[in-house]
Amino acid sequence: MAADERNAFEVYRDRVDRPLGRLFREYGAAEAHWLVIGMVANVVARVAGLVPPVVLGVAIDAVFTGTGPYTLPLVPDAWLPTAEPAQFRLSVILIFASFIVTGVFTYVYGIAANNFAHRVMHSVRTDSFDQMQRLDMTFFDDKQTGEVMSVLNNDASNLEVFLDNALQNSARLGVMLVGIAGVLAYYNYELAIVTLAAIPLMFLFTLWFMRAVEPRYTAQRSVVGDLNTALENALSGVELVKTSNTEAHESERVEDASYSYFRRTMSILRLNYVYRPGMELLAGLAFAATFAVGGFWLANGPPGPFSTELTVGTFVTFVLLTQQFVAPLAEVSNIIDQYENAKASCERVFGLRDIPVRIEDDDDAIELGGGAQGDGGARNDGGVTPAGDPDHGGVAGAVEYDDVSFAYPENALVDPEDADEEVLSGVSFTADPGDTVALVGPTGAGKSTLLKLLLRLYDVTDGAVRVDGHDVRDVTVESLRSSIGYVAQDTTLFDGTIAENIRYGRFTRIEEAGADGLDEEAVRERVVEAAKAAEAHEFVSSLPNGYETRIGERGVKLSGGQRQRLAIARVVLQDPAILILDEATSAVDTETEMLIQRSLDRLAADRTTFVIAHRLSTVTDADTALVLEDGEVVERGTHDELLAADGLYAKLWGVQAGEIDELPEEFVERARERHVDRAVERATESEVDSETLE
Ligand code: ADP
Repeated sequence: MAADERNAFEVYRDRVDRPLGRLFREYGAAEAHWLVIGMVANVVARVAGLVPPVVLGVAIDAVFTGTGPYTLPLVPDAWLPTAEPAQFRLSVILIFASFIVTGVFTYVYGIAANNFAHRVMHSVRTDSFDQMQRLDMTFFDDKQTGEVMSVLNNDASNLEVFLDNALQNSARLGVMLVGIAGVLAYYNYELAIVTLAAIPLMFLFTLWFMRAVEPRYTAQRSVVGDLNTALENALSGVELVKTSNTEAHESERVEDASYSYFRRTMSILRLNYVYRPGMELLAGLAFAATFAVGGFWLANGPPGPFSTELTVGTFVTFVLLTQQFVAPLAEVSNIIDQYENAKASCERVFGLRDIPVRIEDDDDAIELGGGAQGDGGARNDGGVTPAGDPDHGGVAGAVEYDDVSFAYPENALVDPEDADEEVLSGVSFTADPGDTVALVGPTGAGKSTLLKLLLRLYDVTDGAVRVDGHDVRDVTVESLRSSIGYVAQDTTLFDGTIAENIRYGRFTRIEEAGADGLDEEAVRERVVEAAKAAEAHEFVSSLPNGYETRIGERGVKLSGGQRQRLAIARVVLQDPAILILDEATSAVDTETEMLIQRSLDRLAADRTTFVIAHRLSTVTDADTALVLEDGEVVERGTHDELLAADGLYAKLWGVQAGEIDELPEEFVERARERHVDRAVERATESEVDSETLE
């Protein structure tokens, strides 16, 4: 992908403002109680961790050297024993108890923090998946599946690591810094100045590190994108790679991308390896300075400007607490790493979320076929119509194209005005219920596009497509699509059993068939009936487990003809009023072809059918044919009428029948001219626009 050719995903990602703040508002708020419990437990555990060094220092002074009173911060002296043995026992109990409290609260904190992180991650993942399913075809035309996969997997995990580790580690660090500084200042503020002098230095050092590392993270992320693209290309195009002998080339591409990823990562790590030991060095210096100054103080009294007294016990407390600084400080670079990753992941999550969904139900959309809106699309899940019902759930199947024009939205997700060149212009026709309409024309004429508009995979740019008199934009997407059956050139089968694949769409979840008064057995019978109608029953029965045979990625592989018959069975079960057939171009043997043809004829018999005809022999059976050329209907009529007209159709027929070798130059020339005309038209239009603006 060229750097200047940014897809919708990237554009929306860059527009996301304060992503982590949004994460907490939109997802964190619902689980905030877990976060609060985790934070509180974390604070309690850390504060309890400060108890042993303090008690130890006090015990040394009061019990062993007898140089100080037995007092504890925040505890009234009246509660404390005065006899030395009792003081010693209490010290031991306190030290034990603090370890138990630390243990218990660390456990509570672990449970709560993980609950918070994983619950948020779960919602992020399922919401992102739902959003992905709602997105229009325009989004998928850009082939952004790799990026979506990465949002659903990596990004959700990055957020989890951040929400769990980074958040709690920074809380711990905060508690440690404040708690330790407080205790030190309480016991001897002068020595505390020596110990804590390193903190501002550490702060500046961290600031420098973050500034230096941030651009390196940005650079790393961009090469991750390149690496993923290289991997995805090579995987999805594996057949092309093999047949073109380009393995070496692909390896080189992946190697290049991987190497730059390695370089970028190393540049981050190099900084990390300056930062981490740097912090440890500063913490070590603080420790050494405390030890040196404190030791001198004990031996010779207050040094230099200092005047307070220092006891052995306080000195021990200082030394132990200063030690406790080191571990959490070493975590800072990890926290920063996790924070940077989470920020980027969060941008991607919300970038995906913010891509507008354009094809969705209007608020007052009606149910095609008359079902009350909002009753859950019973047809699609379970069907209120028994298979073979002549009125197909109340949809007659009258189709009307009224002066339809369409341009693929080039970057419409970003800017709806930004459309590509028109691929359909001024297409008008009607098909009565039960008609068979063949679409004919050279490749790229717009045949598939025409039918995608009927399915509302895209919305028309101009004009209207109507089914039973309703604009397809006024009916629910679900009721529209469930009344249109689609048999594609290549059949998609899911990993699952044959029966599941046939049921897919109509009785996807067999348990829900009950809603239609059908039990599992009845659904099974329907599946077999459909398979019989699709001429698939025979080959399915001969498979080792019949209808329960696993197919798809991890199961039995089926031939093209077999797959197609399963697709037909799927549509038989769906029982739609309208049928779209994309005639397969790949050859199957004559017998299979005959079987398929027979089942298709049966399927088409009482439905409005559109066939994208690759073999013109198909047209002879159609009620009418539309001949498309360069996005316009140039001829229409029955096979005989079209032949008599002696136009494009007659020429195409001639080419297929082998009477003439190729399309005459005049057609090619005409197509070219039309392109030029349109370009001129567009140019003048935009001139007029800018004039009116002025
Ligand atoms: P046909 O089915 O007659 O071969 P299509 O309807 O597939 O023709 O294509 C019509 C025109 O639309 C072609 O110029 C094709 O390049 C263009 N086109 C098809 N699909 C897309 C798409 N998803 N995005 C942009 N242009 C497309």
